[in-house]
Amino acid sequence: MDNASKKFINALLTNDIEALKRTPKADLHNHFYLGGNRDYIYKKTSMNIPLLAHQLNSMDEMHNWVNKHIGSIFEGKLGRALALEATFAQAVHDGITILDIGEDVWANGYFYNNNVEELIETFNSIHENIAPDIDLRLQIGLSRHCKINDIEKWIEPFWDYECFYSIDLYGDELAQPIEKFKGIYRKAKEKGLILKAHSGEWGDADSVKRAVSELELNEVQHGIAASQSSKIMNWLYDHKIQLNICPTSNVMLGRAESIKNHPIRKLFDSGIKVTINSDDVLVFNSSVSGEYLKLFNEGVFNAEELDTIRKNGLTSSI
Ligand SMILES: [Zn+2]
Repeated sequence: MDNASKKFINALLTNDIEALKRTPKADLHNHFYLGGNRDYIYKKTSMNIPLLAHQLNSMDEMHNWVNKHIGSIFEGKLGRALALEATFAQAVHDGITILDIGEDVWANGYFYNNNVEELIETFNSIHENIAPDIDLRLQIGLSRHCKINDIEKWIEPFWDYECFYSIDLYGDELAQPIEKFKGIYRKAKEKGLILKAHSGEWGDADSVKRAVSELELNEVQHGIAASQSSKIMNWLYDHKIQLNICPTSNVMLGRAESIKNHPIRKLFDSGIKVTINSDDVLVFNSSVSGEYLKLFNEGVFNAEELDTIRKNGLTSSI
Protein backbone atom coordinates (compact mmCIF):
# COMPACT_ATOMS: atom_id res chain seq x y z
CA MET A 1 0.00 0.00 0.00
CA ASP A 2 1.44 3.40 -0.91
CA ASN A 3 1.88 6.30 1.45
CA ALA A 4 -1.11 8.30 0.22
CA SER A 5 -3.42 5.31 0.80
CA LYS A 6 -2.05 4.80 4.31
CA LYS A 7 -2.58 8.47 5.14
CA PHE A 8 -6.07 8.51 3.64
CA ILE A 9 -7.19 5.40 5.52
CA ASN A 10 -5.72 6.68 8.75
CA ALA A 11 -7.43 10.07 8.26
CA LEU A 12 -10.81 8.32 7.91
CA LEU A 13 -10.23 6.13 10.95
CA THR A 14 -9.29 9.14 13.08
CA ASN A 15 -12.01 11.39 11.64
CA ASP A 16 -9.34 13.86 10.58
CA ILE A 17 -10.79 16.08 7.83
CA GLU A 18 -7.61 18.15 7.54
CA ALA A 19 -5.54 15.04 6.81
CA LEU A 20 -8.18 13.92 4.28
CA LYS A 21 -7.83 17.26 2.54
CA ARG A 22 -4.10 16.68 2.22
CA THR A 23 -4.55 13.39 0.33
CA PRO A 24 -4.59 13.49 -3.50
CA LYS A 25 -8.07 13.18 -4.93
CA ALA A 26 -10.05 14.05 -8.03
CA ASP A 27 -13.22 16.07 -8.56
CA LEU A 28 -14.66 14.90 -11.87
CA HIS A 29 -18.17 16.23 -11.43
CA ASN A 30 -18.02 19.92 -10.60
CA HIS A 31 -20.03 22.74 -12.17
CA PHE A 32 -17.56 25.53 -11.65
CA TYR A 33 -20.24 28.24 -11.55
CA LEU A 34 -21.38 26.89 -8.17
CA GLY A 35 -18.14 25.21 -7.15
CA GLY A 36 -16.69 28.13 -5.20
CA ASN A 37 -15.22 28.51 -1.77
CA ARG A 38 -17.45 30.50 0.64
CA ASP A 39 -14.56 32.21 2.45
CA TYR A 40 -12.96 33.27 -0.82
CA ILE A 41 -16.25 34.80 -2.01
CA TYR A 42 -16.73 36.52 1.35
CA LYS A 43 -13.25 38.05 1.15
CA LYS A 44 -13.89 39.33 -2.37
CA THR A 45 -17.50 40.51 -2.02
CA SER A 46 -18.37 40.60 1.72
CA MET A 47 -21.23 38.31 0.81
CA ASN A 48 -21.95 35.54 3.26
CA ILE A 49 -23.55 32.68 1.37
CA PRO A 50 -25.57 30.62 3.87
CA LEU A 51 -25.56 26.84 4.10
CA LEU A 52 -28.52 25.10 2.52
CA ALA A 53 -30.77 24.21 5.44
CA HIS A 54 -33.40 22.04 3.81
CA GLN A 55 -33.94 19.59 1.00
CA LEU A 56 -34.82 20.89 -2.46
CA ASN A 57 -37.48 19.17 -4.52
CA SER A 58 -36.51 20.19 -8.03
CA MET A 59 -33.91 21.98 -10.11
CA ASP A 60 -36.27 24.98 -10.10
CA GLU A 61 -36.13 25.13 -6.31
CA MET A 62 -32.35 24.94 -6.55
CA HIS A 63 -32.25 27.83 -9.02
CA ASN A 64 -34.51 29.88 -6.74
CA TRP A 65 -32.20 29.21 -3.80
CA VAL A 66 -29.21 30.28 -5.89
CA ASN A 67 -30.97 33.47 -7.02
CA LYS A 68 -31.95 34.35 -3.48
CA HIS A 69 -28.64 33.63 -1.73
CA ILE A 70 -26.02 34.13 -4.40
CA GLY A 71 -27.86 36.70 -6.47
CA SER A 72 -25.90 38.71 -8.94
CA ILE A 73 -22.31 38.30 -7.72
CA PHE A 74 -21.43 35.97 -10.60
CA GLU A 75 -23.05 38.09 -13.29
CA GLY A 76 -21.10 39.54 -16.20
CA LYS A 77 -17.55 38.86 -17.22
CA LEU A 78 -16.04 39.77 -13.86
CA GLY A 79 -18.63 37.75 -11.98
CA ARG A 80 -17.90 34.74 -14.16
CA ALA A 81 -14.19 35.09 -13.42
CA LEU A 82 -14.94 35.39 -9.69
CA ALA A 83 -16.93 32.13 -9.80
CA LEU A 84 -14.00 30.42 -11.50
CA GLU A 85 -11.42 31.84 -9.08
CA ALA A 86 -13.55 30.70 -6.14
CA THR A 87 -13.79 27.20 -7.64
CA PHE A 88 -10.03 26.89 -7.94
CA ALA A 89 -9.68 28.26 -4.39
CA GLN A 90 -12.14 25.62 -3.16
CA ALA A 91 -10.26 22.87 -4.99
CA VAL A 92 -7.00 23.96 -3.33
CA HIS A 93 -8.74 24.11 0.06
CA ASP A 94 -10.14 20.59 -0.47
CA GLY A 95 -6.82 19.14 -1.68
CA ILE A 96 -8.11 18.30 -5.15
CA THR A 97 -5.30 17.23 -7.47
CA ILE A 98 -7.34 16.54 -10.63
CA LEU A 99 -10.16 18.93 -11.50
CA ASP A 100 -12.43 18.38 -14.48
CA ILE A 101 -14.27 21.64 -15.14
CA GLY A 102 -15.06 23.79 -18.13
CA GLU A 103 -17.27 26.36 -19.72
CA ASP A 104 -20.60 26.01 -21.45
CA VAL A 105 -20.53 26.59 -25.21
CA TRP A 106 -23.28 29.23 -24.93
CA ALA A 107 -21.09 31.23 -22.53
CA ASN A 108 -18.45 31.80 -25.20
CA GLY A 109 -20.60 34.52 -26.77
CA TYR A 110 -21.68 36.05 -23.44
CA PHE A 111 -18.39 36.31 -21.60
CA TYR A 112 -15.50 35.77 -24.01
CA ASN A 113 -16.39 37.83 -27.12
CA ASN A 114 -17.11 34.65 -29.10
CA ASN A 115 -13.43 33.90 -28.88
CA VAL A 116 -12.52 30.42 -27.64
CA GLU A 117 -8.92 31.52 -27.26
CA GLU A 118 -10.02 34.17 -24.74
CA LEU A 119 -12.06 31.54 -22.90
CA ILE A 120 -9.09 29.16 -22.71
CA GLU A 121 -6.77 31.98 -21.66
CA THR A 122 -9.17 33.00 -18.85
CA PHE A 123 -9.21 29.44 -17.50
CA ASN A 124 -5.45 29.05 -17.84
CA SER A 125 -4.53 32.32 -16.18
CA ILE A 126 -6.87 31.80 -13.20
CA HIS A 127 -5.61 28.23 -12.93
CA GLU A 128 -2.02 29.45 -12.97
CA ASN A 129 -2.70 32.22 -10.39
CA ILE A 130 -4.72 30.26 -7.88
CA ALA A 131 -4.08 26.55 -8.29
CA PRO A 132 -0.99 25.90 -10.44
CA ASP A 133 -0.42 22.46 -8.89
CA ILE A 134 -3.85 21.15 -9.82
CA ASP A 135 -4.15 19.05 -12.96
CA LEU A 136 -6.87 20.96 -14.84
CA ARG A 137 -8.85 18.88 -17.30
CA LEU A 138 -10.65 21.37 -19.41
CA GLN A 139 -14.17 20.44 -20.37
CA ILE A 140 -16.58 21.53 -23.07
CA GLY A 141 -20.02 21.96 -21.49
CA LEU A 142 -23.45 21.59 -23.12
CA SER A 143 -26.85 22.49 -21.69
CA ARG A 144 -29.45 19.89 -22.61
CA HIS A 145 -32.30 22.40 -22.60
CA CYS A 146 -30.75 24.65 -25.26
CA LYS A 147 -31.84 24.21 -28.88
CA ILE A 148 -29.70 21.59 -30.58
CA ASN A 149 -29.16 23.81 -33.65
CA ASP A 150 -27.79 26.54 -31.41
CA ILE A 151 -25.52 24.13 -29.54
CA GLU A 152 -24.16 22.80 -32.83
CA LYS A 153 -23.41 26.34 -33.92
CA TRP A 154 -21.85 27.39 -30.60
CA ILE A 155 -19.60 24.35 -30.33
CA GLU A 156 -18.14 24.71 -33.83
CA PRO A 157 -15.19 27.00 -32.91
CA PHE A 158 -14.25 24.74 -29.95
CA TRP A 159 -13.28 21.89 -32.30
CA ASP A 160 -10.21 23.84 -33.46
CA TYR A 161 -8.50 23.57 -30.06
CA GLU A 162 -6.62 20.55 -28.79
CA CYS A 163 -6.55 21.54 -25.11
CA PHE A 164 -10.00 20.22 -24.20
CA TYR A 165 -10.04 16.97 -22.27
CA SER A 166 -13.72 16.07 -21.89
CA ILE A 167 -17.27 16.94 -22.90
CA ASP A 168 -20.31 16.93 -20.61
CA LEU A 169 -24.04 17.36 -21.08
CA TYR A 170 -26.07 18.71 -18.15
CA GLY A 171 -29.10 20.86 -17.32
CA ASP A 172 -32.63 19.56 -17.62
CA GLU A 173 -32.16 15.82 -18.15
CA LEU A 174 -35.68 15.43 -19.50
CA ALA A 175 -35.57 18.41 -21.91
CA GLN A 176 -34.92 16.56 -25.16
CA PRO A 177 -33.97 13.07 -26.36
CA ILE A 178 -30.31 12.18 -25.88
CA GLU A 179 -30.12 10.97 -29.51
CA LYS A 180 -30.07 14.59 -30.64
CA PHE A 181 -26.54 14.91 -29.28
CA LYS A 182 -25.19 11.93 -31.19
CA GLY A 183 -23.52 13.98 -33.93
CA ILE A 184 -21.70 16.20 -31.43
CA TYR A 185 -20.50 13.19 -29.42
CA ARG A 186 -19.24 11.39 -32.54
CA LYS A 187 -17.15 14.41 -33.34
CA ALA A 188 -15.95 14.68 -29.73
CA LYS A 189 -14.92 11.02 -29.89
CA GLU A 190 -12.95 11.67 -33.08
CA LYS A 191 -11.20 14.49 -31.23
CA GLY A 192 -10.22 12.06 -28.46
CA LEU A 193 -12.28 13.69 -25.70
CA ILE A 194 -13.52 11.77 -22.65
CA LEU A 195 -17.26 11.50 -23.24
CA LYS A 196 -19.48 12.27 -20.27
CA ALA A 197 -23.13 13.19 -19.80
CA HIS A 198 -25.55 13.63 -16.93
CA SER A 199 -27.99 10.78 -16.83
CA GLY A 200 -29.88 8.74 -14.26
CA GLU A 201 -30.26 11.61 -11.81
CA TRP A 202 -33.86 12.44 -12.77
CA GLY A 203 -34.26 9.72 -15.40
CA ASP A 204 -34.55 5.94 -14.88
CA ALA A 205 -32.14 3.02 -15.31
CA ASP A 206 -33.03 2.58 -19.00
CA SER A 207 -32.17 6.22 -19.66
CA VAL A 208 -28.64 5.59 -18.38
CA LYS A 209 -28.13 2.68 -20.77
CA ARG A 210 -29.60 4.72 -23.60
CA ALA A 211 -27.30 7.68 -22.91
CA VAL A 212 -24.23 5.44 -22.78
CA SER A 213 -25.04 3.53 -25.95
CA GLU A 214 -26.28 6.46 -28.04
CA LEU A 215 -23.43 8.81 -27.10
CA GLU A 216 -20.78 6.10 -26.57
CA LEU A 217 -20.01 7.56 -23.16
CA ASN A 218 -16.95 6.71 -21.10
CA GLU A 219 -18.36 8.20 -17.90
CA VAL A 220 -21.83 9.06 -16.59
CA GLN A 221 -22.39 12.00 -14.26
CA HIS A 222 -24.61 10.54 -11.48
CA GLY A 223 -26.05 7.47 -13.22
CA ILE A 224 -27.45 6.40 -9.86
CA ALA A 225 -30.80 5.28 -11.29
CA ALA A 226 -28.91 2.33 -12.81
CA SER A 227 -29.05 0.81 -9.32
CA GLN A 228 -32.74 0.03 -9.98
CA SER A 229 -31.77 -2.68 -12.47
CA SER A 230 -29.17 -5.43 -11.96
CA LYS A 231 -29.26 -6.05 -15.69
CA ILE A 232 -28.23 -2.47 -16.44
CA MET A 233 -25.63 -2.45 -13.66
CA ASN A 234 -24.09 -5.58 -15.21
CA TRP A 235 -24.22 -3.95 -18.62
CA LEU A 236 -22.41 -0.84 -17.31
CA TYR A 237 -19.82 -3.07 -15.65
CA ASP A 238 -19.28 -5.07 -18.87
CA HIS A 239 -18.81 -1.85 -20.82
CA LYS A 240 -16.39 -0.43 -18.20
CA ILE A 241 -18.48 2.70 -17.65
CA GLN A 242 -17.43 4.96 -14.79
CA LEU A 243 -20.05 6.76 -12.69
CA ASN A 244 -19.05 10.12 -11.20
CA ILE A 245 -21.36 10.32 -8.19
CA CYS A 246 -22.20 13.21 -5.84
CA PRO A 247 -23.87 11.70 -2.76
CA THR A 248 -24.89 14.85 -0.84
CA SER A 249 -26.28 16.49 -3.98
CA ASN A 250 -28.39 13.37 -4.58
CA VAL A 251 -29.77 13.47 -1.03
CA MET A 252 -30.43 17.23 -1.01
CA LEU A 253 -32.30 16.99 -4.32
CA GLY A 254 -34.28 13.98 -3.14
CA ARG A 255 -32.62 11.64 -5.64
CA ALA A 256 -31.41 9.36 -2.85
CA GLU A 257 -33.12 8.69 0.48
CA SER A 258 -30.06 9.32 2.66
CA ILE A 259 -26.28 8.98 2.67
CA LYS A 260 -26.64 5.74 4.64
CA ASN A 261 -28.91 4.21 1.99
CA HIS A 262 -27.30 5.83 -1.01
CA PRO A 263 -27.26 3.52 -4.07
CA ILE A 264 -23.51 4.08 -4.52
CA ARG A 265 -23.02 0.99 -2.33
CA LYS A 266 -25.06 -1.18 -4.67
CA LEU A 267 -23.31 0.23 -7.74
CA PHE A 268 -19.89 -0.37 -6.17
CA ASP A 269 -20.88 -3.94 -5.21
CA SER A 270 -21.88 -4.65 -8.79
CA GLY A 271 -18.26 -3.94 -9.75
CA ILE A 272 -18.89 -0.60 -11.48
CA LYS A 273 -16.06 1.91 -11.22
CA VAL A 274 -17.47 4.79 -9.17
CA THR A 275 -15.94 8.09 -8.08
CA ILE A 276 -17.03 10.62 -5.43
CA ASN A 277 -17.40 14.29 -6.35
CA SER A 278 -18.84 17.63 -5.24
CA ASP A 279 -21.37 18.72 -7.96
CA ASP A 280 -22.19 22.23 -6.59
CA VAL A 281 -20.36 22.78 -3.32
CA LEU A 282 -21.78 26.29 -2.84
CA VAL A 283 -25.28 24.84 -2.69
CA PHE A 284 -24.72 21.44 -1.13
CA ASN A 285 -21.69 22.13 1.09
CA SER A 286 -20.23 18.97 -0.40
CA SER A 287 -16.44 19.16 -0.41
CA VAL A 288 -14.95 15.95 -1.77
CA SER A 289 -13.05 15.32 1.50
CA GLY A 290 -16.30 15.83 3.39
CA GLU A 291 -18.13 13.37 1.12
CA TYR A 292 -15.57 10.63 1.87
CA LEU A 293 -15.88 11.25 5.60
CA LYS A 294 -19.70 11.21 5.52
CA LEU A 295 -19.78 7.90 3.64
CA PHE A 296 -17.32 6.44 6.14
CA ASN A 297 -19.13 7.74 9.23
CA GLU A 298 -22.50 6.51 7.94
CA GLY A 299 -20.99 3.04 7.48
CA VAL A 300 -21.59 2.96 3.72
CA PHE A 301 -17.98 1.97 2.96
CA ASN A 302 -14.97 0.97 4.99
CA ALA A 303 -11.77 2.98 4.72
CA GLU A 304 -10.08 0.60 2.23
CA GLU A 305 -13.11 0.70 -0.07
CA LEU A 306 -13.12 4.49 -0.01
CA ASP A 307 -9.43 4.45 -0.87
CA THR A 308 -10.21 2.27 -3.90
CA ILE A 309 -12.84 4.83 -4.93
CA ARG A 310 -10.38 7.69 -4.36
CA LYS A 311 -7.87 5.97 -6.63
CA ASN A 312 -10.57 5.36 -9.28
CA GLY A 313 -10.76 9.14 -9.66
CA LEU A 314 -7.02 9.42 -10.15
CA THR A 315 -6.84 6.94 -13.02
CA SER A 316 -8.30 7.58 -16.44
CA SER A 317 -11.57 5.89 -17.40
CA ILE A 318 -10.17 4.95 -20.83
ZN1 LIG B 1 -23.99 17.71 -12.07
